[in-house]
Amino acid sequence: MTVSVTGATGFIGKRLVQRLHSDNHSVCVLTRSRSKAQSIFPDKDFPGIVIAEEPEWKNCIQGSTAVVNLAGMPISTRWSPEIKKEIKQSRIKVTSKVVELINASEDKVRPTVLVSATAVGYYGTSETQVFDERSPSGNDYLAEVCREWESSALRVNKDVRLALIRIGVVLGKDGGALAKMIPIFMVFAGGPLGSGKQWFSWIHVDDIVSLIYQALSNPSYKGVINGTAPNPVRLGEMCEHLGSVLGRPSWLPVPDLALKAVLGEGATVVLEGQRVLPARAKELGFPFKYPYIKEALKAILS
Ligand code: NDP
Repeated sequence: MTVSVTGATGFIGKRLVQRLHSDNHSVCVLTRSRSKAQSIFPDKDFPGIVIAEEPEWKNCIQGSTAVVNLAGMPISTRWSPEIKKEIKQSRIKVTSKVVELINASEDKVRPTVLVSATAVGYYGTSETQVFDERSPSGNDYLAEVCREWESSALRVNKDVRLALIRIGVVLGKDGGALAKMIPIFMVFAGGPLGSGKQWFSWIHVDDIVSLIYQALSNPSYKGVINGTAPNPVRLGEMCEHLGSVLGRPSWLPVPDLALKAVLGEGATVVLEGQRVLPARAKELGFPFKYPYIKEALKAILS
């Protein structure tokens, strides 16, 4: 395959590109910053990878078999009105650009599949409801972002197979929420975050990369697919496991304020969660390597 990837320099994208490259697929990194991408994918370690800034995205996309769209401004910042606008616009702008370039391709060079990221924030938050792909959208700010983000992707040419991956909180050592949570967790001796009752729909970074990879090559992967592990946990349980894996006692609650100081209002993703099940991935027989949080955390932190 030849795969063009936006957001390739990010937490998930980096791992995906490494995997595609090591499996001998051709990769085109679609970035806003060639120098940043070159420092992440130096030619000596990633020979053959093409790095493209706009307006070169067009040539990459129109010669690719597949496109993965992961770009978006990080949400773990302070949410001023301007930042909220940028969080939404960054996703819609890049997705619309990708869709425009795919749609403008002639039939013989048009990619056959678009795998586009969205998030479990689509469902809103709840301590009691269980969500799967058929559940309606919520009515908060992140739900609105996800709906508009998905709508931009849905404008892709109908001949292109579209997989929309509603991603949960991705756990890995070198990025995402966990990397930011561990230091404060260590300072506060590893107790629950907030009330501890909120749901935490997580997925190990290796599993989200594999799910995207499957979606690229398996024609059954289309429409909305939740990218979450089959066993979401309440945040209190996640903190207990995190405490035990880190060797920290789990008794002193971490104040919401401490978490907000690090994650900004993006902390709402952790402090007000949702219980999301990967119904489609299970129907498709996707083999989760890390279905349980304890094993996932051990693998990440050992
Ligand atoms: P990162 O924040 O690590 O990387 C996203 C990439 O998007 C960056 O490398 C950057 O690429 C590009 N980007 C950043 N800001 C902007 C901007 N203002 N305008 C356009 N592009 C920008 O993201 P992740 O790898 O963690 O996540 C990938 C996608 O999955 C994101 O869209 C995210 O919202 C979504 N997601 C992630 C979750 C997680 O837990 N990690 C959970 C749910 C959804 P470059 O500088 O090369 O252009």
